[in-house]
Amino acid sequence: MTNPQDPSPLQKKIIREIRINPIVPTESVLVATARSMRPKKEEPPVPHDSRPYVETCPFCRGNESRTPAPIAQIPSEGDWKLRIVENLYPVLGDDRENPHFAFGLQQTIDGYGRHEVIIDNSSHGIRLNEMSEEHLALLFSTYRNRMGELYHSNPRLKYVLVFKNFGPAAGASIGHTHSQIIAMPVVPDNVQAEVRNSAEFHDASHRCIFCSLIDEALTFEATLYDRASGEVRRKINVGQFVIERSSRFVAIKPFASKYEWEVHILPLEHRPDYLDSSPEDMADLAKIVKRTMERLNRVLGGVQYNFFLHSIPHGREYGATAPAYHWHLEICPRTSIPTGFELGSGLFVNTICPEDAAERLRAVDVSAPSNS
Ligand SMILES: [Zn+2]
Ligand SMILES: [Zn+2]
Ligand SMILES: [Zn+2]
Repeated sequence: MTNPQDPSPLQKKIIREIRINPIVPTESVLVATARSMRPKKEEPPVPHDSRPYVETCPFCRGNESRTPAPIAQIPSEGDWKLRIVENLYPVLGDDRENPHFAFGLQQTIDGYGRHEVIIDNSSHGIRLNEMSEEHLALLFSTYRNRMGELYHSNPRLKYVLVFKNFGPAAGASIGHTHSQIIAMPVVPDNVQAEVRNSAEFHDASHRCIFCSLIDEALTFEATLYDRASGEVRRKINVGQFVIERSSRFVAIKPFASKYEWEVHILPLEHRPDYLDSSPEDMADLAKIVKRTMERLNRVLGGVQYNFFLHSIPHGREYGATAPAYHWHLEICPRTSIPTGFELGSGLFVNTICPEDAAERLRAVDVSAPSNS
């Protein structure tokens, strides 16, 4: 197992530059790869609990009585493959209908919403890359179906966020693999910023910024020269940021990645709303996610991560932004804890050059058997 933080033999040069996130320019990232400036404490991989069954785990098959009655169980008869249950410790709940509180600058919105858990698999410690493509397609369809049901259940719900925490470094409090759905009365700031900026880009250029980014990643090639000396300053190669592509999706390492091993998966065609995904989309998404997670696991020796599904918010005010917004899955492996500098400045430090990280992820032979 290699230490993911070690400079790779592929690391070609030392970089120290602030990269501007093209989608949300206020979210810049300091890419600083010099060994001498290692400002972050590394989060070592934890031993993975691969047991299929844990007696004390409420999410394991056979322990169903320890969770509240399921909202859904798939399939509904016989051995279940997935279950949706209420979160026992919801961050938002529909049990209260407080009027808004307002006093001077102290403004609140009622913490109304839903917080649910999708038990991804009946097997306790199975990783996403170990699940079958059929199972992953079922999981991604379940996200879509439940998001749709929640949006339709109450017009006060402005945003339904699907996310997953895997591993203690990613904040998972239960070891059993699971995803979460939070339906909220507000659109999260980061999604709002993406929607707003992509709408501005679209107003100015009549193009979707995410589609442009995909086009650039797949077709752009350039050599930038220093004006005075004529020396090569940077070479931009086709596919430099692409981890892989399938028939309908592409996995990209963002140029301004906040996290060292962050990967985004986007549909190749312009699609604002995850709810419009077809069964064929889900089957192809399963393939690319499985392979991407396999790469991350091999390179990192067991990956702890969060992923977030960003899709267009619902509500009349967002209808006009559909040509500008493009849904995507952000996979954010946790290999270090954010430092005071990062939290205080909002400037994340990435110690591995994204192009080099992409090259290492691409180099994994996913068809060869894994030894982990
Ligand atoms: Zn379990
Ligand atoms: Zn697009
Ligand atoms: Zn996003």
